[in-house]
Amino acid sequence: TEDALKQVAKLDGQVQAFLTVTEEAALSKAEQLDNAPMENRGPLFGLPIGIKDNIVTKGVTTTCASKMLENFVPVYDATVVEKINDAGMISIGKLNMDEFAMGSTTERSAFKTTRNPWNLETVPGGSSGGSAAAVAAGEIPFALGTDTGGSVRQPAAFCGIVGMKPTYGRVSRHGLVAFASSLDQIGPLTRTVEDNALLLQAIAGIDRHDSSSSDKAVENYSAGLTGDLKGMKIAVPKEYLGEGVAEDVKAAVRKALNVMESLGATWEEVTLPHSKYASPTYYAIATAEASSNLARFDGIRYGYRPEGVTNLDEIYTRSRAEGFGEEVKKRIFYGTYALSADHHEDLYVKAQKVRALIAQDFATLFDKYDLIVGPTSATTAYKIGGVVHDPITLYANDLLTVPVNLAGIPALSVPCGFADGLPIGLQFIGNHFDEMTIYKAAHAYE
Ligand code: GLN
Repeated sequence: TEDALKQVAKLDGQVQAFLTVTEEAALSKAEQLDNAPMENRGPLFGLPIGIKDNIVTKGVTTTCASKMLENFVPVYDATVVEKINDAGMISIGKLNMDEFAMGSTTERSAFKTTRNPWNLETVPGGSSGGSAAAVAAGEIPFALGTDTGGSVRQPAAFCGIVGMKPTYGRVSRHGLVAFASSLDQIGPLTRTVEDNALLLQAIAGIDRHDSSSSDKAVENYSAGLTGDLKGMKIAVPKEYLGEGVAEDVKAAVRKALNVMESLGATWEEVTLPHSKYASPTYYAIATAEASSNLARFDGIRYGYRPEGVTNLDEIYTRSRAEGFGEEVKKRIFYGTYALSADHHEDLYVKAQKVRALIAQDFATLFDKYDLIVGPTSATTAYKIGGVVHDPITLYANDLLTVPVNLAGIPALSVPCGFADGLPIGLQFIGNHFDEMTIYKAAHAYE
């Protein structure tokens, strides 16, 4: 814990990953744990961790990187926070993100711009950019992020670390400030696959506070890391190596496939015919759900309230106009439109139908294959300021991550090389609740 705090003090001035550092609480917990009996020490005992700032922490500000929640101090811990505490982990603080997890660069934070430790002129990815950058910089070995459309995997790829989006329902969302409830999952960011497996094992499982959490038994993921890929059948969707994916990214993925072949796996090119509709489908559904979820920020129950308001309408309008940033407001508009009486059939309902087709494409492949492999992101990290105001490019670049959230299946990003000094991410996509096969393959590859 002391080492982690020292690293944060030394590096975070440049990286800017943390929004809050809970130094005193961390040190006193570490001291308390030092005196805990040996038999109470789990596999993650005493290990430092950072938490994305949209996961509520009792007594510690949880801002969602929004002015709306700048001073919000939750009165309870999210289930995942209880679980990491039970595992003996020590939280070092809260990590920067795009406001309400909407974005792909962490430049949408209302408070600061996190930098990619591999090149401080580039973004760490997003929205869990603070989580990925803090781990990649060596400030902390473990972090929690959230992935609604790629926000764990893409920053993991940009920062050269390992990030897992678990199956929908594998990890409780109780205490996660909701963005799009049918897509959101909390996931671990770590430097190695083994660390990742250990952390997922600690946070997974049913929770009576989240009716969408699954009662399926949590597997012993770390026991499955045998290094063996014999007989594993891998599908490589041609859409994942198509137009729009950078040549050096494609080359790194092909090289990784050769490595997996040499370890005993076989692979074939396949198709995910509806994946080309994934981005518009995702943005219709995610914004619709966000417009509903963010209705609670009304200036009364939570957060920011402007001064000098004289009536109820003004409280609503001014707290939302001043409390939310540009991207969040835009998405509330889109989502409200997609759910409106005149348009919901054409937008929201149609998107739900396409979502079912996208899920079916994956199901068909998993009848025959154990895993799907491709790149995590079409490019390496963007320059700071480069694309943040170009939503067409940004939304289109979610193409390789959002289909997984729409289908509810698990996927992990693991580093597979560099282009111009910036990391490239390899994505392993598994069937529902088959995190084990993903970890096994990624571990053997890594
Ligand atoms: N980049 C996607 C978006 O902006 C994903 C965000 C996420 O997974 N939270 O919505």
